[in-house]
Amino acid sequence: MKIVSEPKEMQRLAEEWRSRSGVIGFVPTMGYLHEGHLELMRRGRDVCDHLVASIFVNPTQFGPNEDLATYPRNFDRDCELAGSVGVDVIFYPSAEKMYPEGFQTYVEVTGLTAGMEGASRPGHFKGVATVVCKLFHQVKPHYAYFGEKDYQQLAAIRRMVRDLDMDLTIVGCPTVREESGLALSSRNAYLSVEGKKAGLCLSRSLARARELARNGETDAGVILREARAVVEKEPLARLDYMKICHPESLEELEKVESGSRLIMAVRVENTRLLDNGPLL
Ligand code: AMP
Repeated sequence: MKIVSEPKEMQRLAEEWRSRSGVIGFVPTMGYLHEGHLELMRRGRDVCDHLVASIFVNPTQFGPNEDLATYPRNFDRDCELAGSVGVDVIFYPSAEKMYPEGFQTYVEVTGLTAGMEGASRPGHFKGVATVVCKLFHQVKPHYAYFGEKDYQQLAAIRRMVRDLDMDLTIVGCPTVREESGLALSSRNAYLSVEGKKAGLCLSRSLARARELARNGETDAGVILREARAVVEKEPLARLDYMKICHPESLEELEKVESGSRLIMAVRVENTRLLDNGPLL
């Protein structure tokens, strides 16, 4: 496995692969890899000739009071894990290379990013769209893999690719969970043992909502009331938002139908945890 830290070198390599008709798969990450990331890589490994994973803790997607400085990092371990699932290249650029002096161009997806994470983290999606756009130009993938765990991000990236005529396919992959139900996340490392237990209220509330929907309840208000109550019963958890949305437009729904998605963010011990899933 090769480690590339120069964007220009990454581009040259991608160009060379493309000139020989190689199919390039790409998994963008912020590192501190876990099974959720590795699953995306395995998906790419299955269909691509060349598999690139990037590790870049992107400063522009963090707010001033967020965890950029403390975000968990372990580059050596990440390399081992990525190598074990067959990644060919780790792209590991520095912030200085990604945002050199004088940088002033940003990509912004509007409507889709206004609510939920966008409302709680102003500027977050502008940073995400900008860095993903740059990474796509550097890695030149045919396929890029994103987790459904960050559902609004996945929807925004799909929108950006469509709106800006980017010539690649976005592949969304299901959320990987611990056996307990907790969605894997690099930020779970911040949680204490009690915090991790408290974090199970997200998957529990999703399960409760699903149970209601599958038993015929279609009123989103009724389902949300019950699902919120599951989170509110957990003393260490504070609900940030919970919504039932259309799977593509992310518009809030009053009636639950096939594909409707419950999406939530919950703060546990100062760590924001995300979860979502289809109800039907
Ligand atoms: P991150 O390193 O947190 O920026 O995540 C990099 C990619 O991995 C994103 O596309 C995430 O949605 C995806 N991802 C993170 N956690 C999971 C998970 N538990 N299951 C599936 N994909 C995930």
